[in-house]
Amino acid sequence: MTLTDTEQFTVRRSSAEQSCAGLLPAVLPPAGHFIGGTFVPGSSTRLIDVVDPTTEQVIASVQAGTASDVDVAVEAAVAAQKSWGATTPKERSEVLSLIANIIEANREAFEIIESANTGKPRMVAEDDVSSTIDTFRFMAGASRTLTSMAGGDYATGHTSVILREPVGVVGVITPWNYPLLMAAWKIAPILAAGNSIVLKPSEQTPLSTLKLAELVAGRIPDGILNVVTGQGRTVGQRLAEHPDIALIALTGSVVSGQAVAETAGRSVKRVHLELGGKAPVVVFPDADVRAAAAGVRNAGFWNAGQDCGAACRVLVHESVAEEFTEHLVREVGTLVVGAPDGGDDVEIGPMISRPHFERVKESLAEAKAAGLQVAIGGSALEGTGYFIEPTVISNVPAGAHIATHEIFGPVVTVESFSSTEEAITRANESPYGLSASVWTRDSSLSLSVPKQLDFGTVWVNSHLVLACEVPWGGFKGSGYGRDLSLYALDDYSRTKHVMINHSA
Ligand code: NAD
Repeated sequence: MTLTDTEQFTVRRSSAEQSCAGLLPAVLPPAGHFIGGTFVPGSSTRLIDVVDPTTEQVIASVQAGTASDVDVAVEAAVAAQKSWGATTPKERSEVLSLIANIIEANREAFEIIESANTGKPRMVAEDDVSSTIDTFRFMAGASRTLTSMAGGDYATGHTSVILREPVGVVGVITPWNYPLLMAAWKIAPILAAGNSIVLKPSEQTPLSTLKLAELVAGRIPDGILNVVTGQGRTVGQRLAEHPDIALIALTGSVVSGQAVAETAGRSVKRVHLELGGKAPVVVFPDADVRAAAAGVRNAGFWNAGQDCGAACRVLVHESVAEEFTEHLVREVGTLVVGAPDGGDDVEIGPMISRPHFERVKESLAEAKAAGLQVAIGGSALEGTGYFIEPTVISNVPAGAHIATHEIFGPVVTVESFSSTEEAITRANESPYGLSASVWTRDSSLSLSVPKQLDFGTVWVNSHLVLACEVPWGGFKGSGYGRDLSLYALDDYSRTKHVMINHSA
């Protein structure tokens, strides 16, 4: 089945009065870096334009930060960390709960900012804000329940005590796909563990992080959370090299992760990397094929596929490949593309920027040039905004470029396999190792296959379901370190062994 009619999808526009862009001026945060609890001008007069990808209009400008802006922020973070690190888990928990309450009380402002800055549909923005609040609430509780190895007499005449300590100042670099949520995934555990932060949001989407800074200013201890806006190669680079930063955490592309790890290595800084993904979806012949197709519709196209865990690479058994593809094409045909306020049923927004839009278009052109079969979608949409049709490319041969590199757009590829061993080998033949899913009703396969897959998260009969209690992070090219769960608290603290000699 193919539905390549270019009229399949159109962009549902919103009226000017309803649009996020119209509501935005009232909720925009102050410009400037947020250092030591207040907004301050940067050392350079250079600005970075922030663009709404739906309208292609500049909606704000932020400071192009410099290395010396980072240095000032680190100084504030070092000063603040001393007393913050000495607070009790209960006190830190109260601050995190307060941040959750502040976000909840201002959720409309965050949703407007996030939709205007990224073009994401309101349903996605609402989910982002809810998950952000839950992240702070979870870490507020989790920070009070830490456990470690039991203290005890492990050497004769000596008692050992194991301490979990903050690491100090943590540098954080966030991406543009979930600007507020990815910041929360770092800020909550890092503060919970007693560290202070200097955070650089993506230069493309700094507004919701600055809004958070504006709203918490004066209500949380000054200097524990600092925000310096700017480019990766200046602000990000300085965070990675600064001698007073103990750990650098980045969520972003593999290339940025490599640059940060290389720089951080010079000062033997700890590194935490959440990088790209290309999640395989392995559909066995006994699976509920209809449910698998519906799962890919939701998990492959959420946030217009701009998700590191997106269900973007289907490997389906040859005996059900045609049936699966038919269901998937039908499912994808129901997706509504549009502006954030184009209606409650809009599920697909634009690509984040013109360069990214061009990259996704190039991937589609390359697939077409290689003679691959576009089952639905396959083109950019006419008019203003960086919209791409939800796309399914079927009958993709093993090793095809489109099925191995991260497209980060609303594009799902379908390959087929003939044996379980082949499915596992092909799924693992990826430079990435972030997440995967397995679709089967066979209880034996539901455990044996996940155990053989080289991915940090493997769902069975599901995909892209996250919870704060469980870890998120990758293997191989997808990086190392874990977000969410108690594992994140572990990552952002250090272990100290104190041994006391009884006879002294
Ligand atoms: P990106 O790597 O272009 O940018 C991410 C951040 O890194 C930005 O703040 C950027 O300014 C900064 N940066 C870029 N070069 C740098 C350098 N040399 N030194 C220091 N900082 C630098 O990524 P993006 O385009 O914003 O986000 C998309 C990527 O993020 C995708 O690959 C996606 O898979 C990944 N991602 C991963 C996860 C995860 O949990 N694993 C979550 C979201 C996004």
